[in-house]
Amino acid sequence: MQQPFEALKTLLQTDQRFLLIAHKSPDGDAVGSLVGMFHLLKNLGKKVEVVLPDPPAVNIVGFLEGTDCLFYSSDSNAVENRFMEADCLICLDFNAISRVGDMQHLLAGFQGKKVLIDHHTEPENFADITISEVHCSSTCQLIYQCFEGMDLLSSMDQHAARCLYLGMTTDTGSFRFPSVTAKTHKIVADLIERGIEQWKIHQEVFDNNSVNQLQLRGFAVSEKLVLLNQGPHGFPFGYIWLTKDDLARFNYQPGDTEGLVNTILSIEGMKAGVLIQEKSDGIKMSFRSKDEVHVNQFAKKHFNGGGHVYAAGGFSPDSMDVTISKLLSLMHELFPR
Ligand code: 5GP
Ligand code: MN
Repeated sequence: MQQPFEALKTLLQTDQRFLLIAHKSPDGDAVGSLVGMFHLLKNLGKKVEVVLPDPPAVNIVGFLEGTDCLFYSSDSNAVENRFMEADCLICLDFNAISRVGDMQHLLAGFQGKKVLIDHHTEPENFADITISEVHCSSTCQLIYQCFEGMDLLSSMDQHAARCLYLGMTTDTGSFRFPSVTAKTHKIVADLIERGIEQWKIHQEVFDNNSVNQLQLRGFAVSEKLVLLNQGPHGFPFGYIWLTKDDLARFNYQPGDTEGLVNTILSIEGMKAGVLIQEKSDGIKMSFRSKDEVHVNQFAKKHFNGGGHVYAAGGFSPDSMDVTISKLLSLMHELFPR
């Protein structure tokens, strides 16, 4: 049997019209892998289009420049046409069809070849070629390794390199998580040698906060953070809960609470935490953990979600109160005594 890299290389030699997609509420790794792949394939002479279920946060939207990216949330017909015109669909940075939200029927019904390149656990088996590396820091790192494995790194220009750096830095908490290896740093060294100015990417992504966003974060930590670590029967767990009114008060924009859950883990002794936000369609949960506490199975089993061992998302159709009560009643599962 052909190895996945070889199968992808064969595909790149035959198919011409590629459509690239990533998950809803796209983060730095989703946008970085989408646009990085766009440039890599363009440089190989392919016709490439990109679409997303919905727009990314303002601090990373600039990376889409030059791609003519369409969003299903604002132009579903045009997105549908792109699906019809493509020979090959490349799915980036997600492990389940449901992760593309309202666009999932287009993915499920796509007639051409499907490729999945991803680093989340337990990928669904929907693609003809699945390149899944759960120990890889980011989908962006995996794309680099694919092109290295296919001996096609000559197609890496500065645009692609910048995008891959974006996903590598955002998915690793700026190179601090256990997923970071010597290989991660060797790739970064190569991207810098190719001329990217990594400090500019950090400024663009991390030093671009609105005052509202900072005030929302301050409010969340001072007024809406609940720690469960008190007393002999406590848990090293905390949660932040934000209602629609809380978010509206600070004129919430997509991305404004990105990374907020990590502040819980930064508290001395904390092993896990969750950010719980009330959105128009229900309650969105963002879990983070460390050491022996694993949140992906917990999110999958109880909150319709999943993700990585130490970073997972979930969704609750119940009210905020019911969701929090349910969460509290399940603490013993996350922390067996
Ligand atoms: P976040 O908390 O930043 O939304 O998500 C954390 C990680 O879990 C990300 O890698 C994200 O792709 C993944 N994730 C978030 N929500 C879901 C979900 O509902 N299902 C699955 N399978 N993964 C999710
Ligand atoms: Mn990722």
